[in-house]
Amino acid sequence: MTTLKAITFDLDDTLWDNHGVMARTEEGHYRWLLEALAAWHDTRQEPILKLTHDDGGYDYLQRRQQLAKQVPERRGDFTWLRLRALEAQLETQGLPRSAALMWAAAAMNEFHRLRVQVTPHPEAAGLLTALAERYQLAAITNGNIHLQRQPLAAYFPVAIAAGELLAPKPDPTPFLTALSRLNVAPECAMHVGDSWQEDVLPAQQLGMHAVWISAMEDQALPPRVHRIAHIKELPSVLQWLENRR
Ligand SMILES: [Mg+2]
Repeated sequence: MTTLKAITFDLDDTLWDNHGVMARTEEGHYRWLLEALAAWHDTRQEPILKLTHDDGGYDYLQRRQQLAKQVPERRGDFTWLRLRALEAQLETQGLPRSAALMWAAAAMNEFHRLRVQVTPHPEAAGLLTALAERYQLAAITNGNIHLQRQPLAAYFPVAIAAGELLAPKPDPTPFLTALSRLNVAPECAMHVGDSWQEDVLPAQQLGMHAVWISAMEDQALPPRVHRIAHIKELPSVLQWLENRR
């Protein structure tokens, strides 16, 4: 039996609930953009763009989806998709290219300001503090949260944004990148995440241990996979593994 040396964590819906923040970020940064642009045009005594929150937001989404198909290697690089979609939308609305680039970047700055306002589960910080005494820790996310500005950043000396690697999970690349930076063999590492397809299966197939955060009690589990309902139950899995050694 090998010794566990490292634990890698998914972030969204593993260490915090992501839904509310994502909805506020989606709505908030686009509303901010339209209001800031309207004020900008107003001071310049120029006509305000004909974009509305609903129609413009729908067009923004469609542009992102289209771009992800046209440039499939960027499909998981959500910041890139959003920037390019906003730039194209603003240019289509008649903004000069330089202004379109500036306002798209400003909107994404607002996006990231809102996106990091996640509330980790109350147990997360204490859990990570205790785990860091025994294990190397890393984060592997498919999301585009700002990895240095997120509230648990200090616990993760290694943090991988898989979309920016152009290899979103379940691609094995982000897992292998994390293991290489931690200098740990897969069998000495565990990945913890809420997605069966993106977290559990790729980690298990690489030979890592995997902990699935899920309420689905009846699912049959392959070797090295454990299920818990909440991150706070992770110590009991680690204890069980330690006792088997
Ligand atoms: Mg997740």
